[in-house]
Amino acid sequence: MGEIIKGKPVADKIAEELAVEIEVLKGKGISPKLAIVRVGARPDDLAYEKGALTRCKKVGVEAEVHEFSQEITQAEFIAGVKKLNEDKNVHGILVFRPLPSHLDEKELKHVIAAEKDIDCLSPVNEGKLMEGDKTGLAPCTPTAVMEILKHYNVELQGKNVTVIGASMVVGKPAAILLLNENATVTICHIFTKDTAAMACQADVVVVGCGVPRLVKESWIAEGAVVVDVGINVDADGNMCGDVDFDKVVDKVAMITPVPGGVGAVTTSILAKNVVKACKLQNNL
Ligand code: NAD
Repeated sequence: MGEIIKGKPVADKIAEELAVEIEVLKGKGISPKLAIVRVGARPDDLAYEKGALTRCKKVGVEAEVHEFSQEITQAEFIAGVKKLNEDKNVHGILVFRPLPSHLDEKELKHVIAAEKDIDCLSPVNEGKLMEGDKTGLAPCTPTAVMEILKHYNVELQGKNVTVIGASMVVGKPAAILLLNENATVTICHIFTKDTAAMACQADVVVVGCGVPRLVKESWIAEGAVVVDVGINVDADGNMCGDVDFDKVVDKVAMITPVPGGVGAVTTSILAKNVVKACKLQNNL
């Protein structure tokens, strides 16, 4: 059986390091602060918000929630984000997505201040991600994937990595971060002809496609490393990932569980990005 690589030790280590950094900042009279912007009250957003608030409190990042009504107009919404851009006490802004369909996310991308954009919505941060410019703010979930691979000493340089899923939240930025570590990256998506064959040739498989247990044992090479970003609820109401964990676990060298894998690290990265943004804004 492969090693089950859990997110908690990774999250705890990041939190420990952050707590020290935050103490130093507080000693200088600076208190990193996150503003969460939520429109309406989707259960997914509320669950993530709860985790984010708990994590921030634990490490010493201040956090406040700005809840906007589901009926908010585009102009009011944009004005609310601009107000946070201008608030000197706020260092990071997280906007829950997807937004209700009457709100235009494209305008938000160009409005959110790049230096406070801790989940990489702004084209400025997207560009820095592409360039491998570390002064940018990379998105939290793909960064959590990278932190897990680093923590468990998974070699990436020159390795074949297949990413299944190509969204702007998970797959695409994960592929770029992996490429920036000199991996040879294949990206699969819904129109890929033979995703199984692409996965089979990989030393590392990163999956974030939102299809419960899509990735089968036959898709994975013996001794590969598998990172499962998926968070799904199966027909029996159980949480599961995008990988058929029970079967795949016997074939791999390492695999992240769901729950308890990537999801457990994401909120630590969120707090880390707030601290990074805070330091950049204070020229530290
Ligand atoms: P999405 O629907 O925006 O994108 C899904 C991607 O997967 C698309 O590129 C699509 O082409 C691809 N895809 C879909 N079915 C496929 C198939 N059969 N074969 C190959 N590719 C296929 O989803 P998302 O927002 O990127 O989320 C993906 C998963 O990651 C979801 O389960 C979501 O809950 C989870 N997620 C987890 C975290 C975390 O912190 N762990 C954060 C965000 C999303």
